Formats: sequence, C-alpha cells, structure tokens
Amino acid sequence: MPQPIVGMDLADLREALGSDQPAYRARQLYEGVYRGQASDLIQISTLPAGLRQDLALRHEVGLPAVSRLYQSADGTRRYLLKLDDGLTVETVLMPEGERDTICISSQVGCPVDCKFCMTALLGLERSLTAGEIVGQVLLIARENRLRHDGGRLNIVMMGQGEPLLNLANVVKATRILLDPHGFALSPRRITVSTSGIIPRIAELGREPVRPKLAISLNASTEETREQLMPITRKYHLKDLIDACKAYPLRPWEKLTFEYVLLKGVNDTDADARRVVKLLANLNCKVNLIALNPGPEIPFETPDPARVDSFQQIIRRSFPCFVRKPRGLDIYAACGQLKRSGN
Ligand code: SAH
Ligand code: SF4
Repeated sequence: MPQPIVGMDLADLREALGSDQPAYRARQLYEGVYRGQASDLIQISTLPAGLRQDLALRHEVGLPAVSRLYQSADGTRRYLLKLDDGLTVETVLMPEGERDTICISSQVGCPVDCKFCMTALLGLERSLTAGEIVGQVLLIARENRLRHDGGRLNIVMMGQGEPLLNLANVVKATRILLDPHGFALSPRRITVSTSGIIPRIAELGREPVRPKLAISLNASTEETREQLMPITRKYHLKDLIDACKAYPLRPWEKLTFEYVLLKGVNDTDADARRVVKLLANLNCKVNLIALNPGPEIPFETPDPARVDSFQQIIRRSFPCFVRKPRGLDIYAACGQLKRSGN
C-alpha cells in the first residue's frame, strides 16, 4: 500500500526520498504538498517527471476520504471522513462572512468522560497521526476551495478527542500548518482546546511553534467540575489555574476559557462571580457556550436571559462572548460529534 506523504516534515521527506536525491528535492515536495496543495504527486511540476513517477509507486498524498457530507441550513458542513484503517472521524467547516473556521479532530472518539459531551460516549478508539490531523485541513480547504491568505481561515482543534493527550502529533501538525513554506497559516489563526491535562499544558508552553490555548473550564467550583468532568479528580481546578498562570503567553496572545452553560447546574450569577474570581489576574477572555443538547445528554440548555445575565457579570472583568451554535440541525455543533448518521 502506498505510504502517505501528508504529515511528513522535511526530515521525514529527505528520508523518504533517499540519500541519492539532493536536499532541495525534499523542500520542493514539501512545498508542493502543503503550500501548493497538490492532490496527486504527479502534479508537483517542480520535481522531475521520473522522480514523480518513482515516488508515486511508493507514496500518495494520502488525504482522508469523504465518507459522508452533511449540510446545515446555516451553511455549516459536517464531514464524516474515512481513515486508512477504515475508522471514521468528523471535521466541521463553518463559513461565516469574512472568515471560515475548520474544526478538526485530534482523536477518534475521546477518553475523557465529560458528562455533557456526546463524543465521550464513543470512548477512545485511537489517536490521529500528524498526517490525519493536517489531512483534515488540506481536504476541507481543497473541497471548498478555501483561501487562507489574508487571515480568512481559522483552525480550531475542538472536534473529537482531547488534543493534549495526543500532543506530539498535534504539535507536528501545527508546525506544518504554520510553516511559511508549508500551509503558511498565521499563528493567530489556530487554537487548541483542552479539558485541562495539566502536565501537557506546561509542555505545550515550551514549544516554540504552537497553537493558541483554550481551556474548557465549565464549572466554578472543584465539586461541580468533578461531577461534570471526572478528569478533575486527577487534575484539580486549583492546579489548572496555577498552570494557566505559569503559561508563557506570547505578546499578542490571551488565554481563552470556554464554559458550557447547563441549566440549573453551573449557570447562576453566583457561578459567574466565582468564575471572575478564579480567573483574576489572568490575561484571558471567556467564551460561553449554551449547552447543545443531544440524545443521552442528561442536561438542559439555559434560557437566553440566564445566558445574558451570566455574560454581563463576566464582561465587567474580561472580554466575554457567547458562542453561536452552528450546524445544530446536522449534529455538527460543539459536543455533538459522535459520527451520527442524523
Ligand atoms: N476535548 C477538548 C476539545 C473538544 S470539545 C475540550 O474538551 O476542550 C470543544 C468544546 O466543546 C469544549 O469547550 C467542550 O466543553 C464543549 N462542549 C462539549 N460538549 C458540549 C455540548 N454538549 N454543548 C456545548 N459545548 C460542549
Ligand atoms: Fe472529550 Fe472534550 Fe468531549 Fe470532554 S468535552 S469528552 S474532553 S471531546
């Protein structure tokens, strides 16, 4: 079976080409696949024809295949993608006015057991390779002829999976996506979201090339967070906040905290005031998400007036936005990714 090129960095490509090829060939191949977005190795015209044919015997670009596409009334598209081993994973494209956002997955399913999230019901099947992470972006960009110059395109690693439990592949994929010779995305345009894997937060902070960081807070007390996100038993709320305080932000960067509002569970004014206290002195913004409901999710969405009141309190201290649900009718919204055929 031909080996995928996507996911390989320059060093990998030099090895794949072999030592009898000059080093610049690896760069031409790299630029052809990531910057030129070639769908077939034969198309990379900077390489000699003989080499292209030879390469094509052993390798392919290796993007995932579209298994199904669901189109929402609001323009959101949910892709069910088939990987080499037959497993499927989801990627969501959200076009909106002046920008497009691609929400990519980092794992098939997720091992973190958050009680409000449908992906949790899948459990973890496996982590994605760097190639499968980059491949989602290249495929969706190609299928939709997306432009990524001029800051139109945003990538969020908020699909299936806990990205920081697959950190090495997430970082390798990010380097390729941000490399000016690669996909050439601006570092301000890619965000990774974590449920709070504390040791990996520090590790991510040490990476010279990395996405922006969002933390799923989702509760204002240790007790409620533990009920909603059992991982808190291992990674305590106080330590999470300490890890955020120690996180080395770049001069232009803020942390993002996400907070899923669940009716009667974590959505009172007192919760909002506690969130403000927890985040005191952090350079951050807060994104509120009113629960996207789903079968087997034992929570309700709060009324808009409650969401508004919560937002007003946070807003006195931090920039605070309410995330608009996208693709609810096709099960593409946050927390709904469960490879459903609906
Ligand atoms: N695993 C990572 C990233 C994927 S989840 C994480 O948990 O951060 C992306 C966001 O969706 C998280 O902030 C999560 O709290 C939120 N989310 C999960 N289930 C949801 C639901 N049913 N409704 C609204 N947001 C949800
Ligand atoms: Fe996993 Fe994130 Fe869902 Fe929690 S919210 S189960 S970490 S995908």
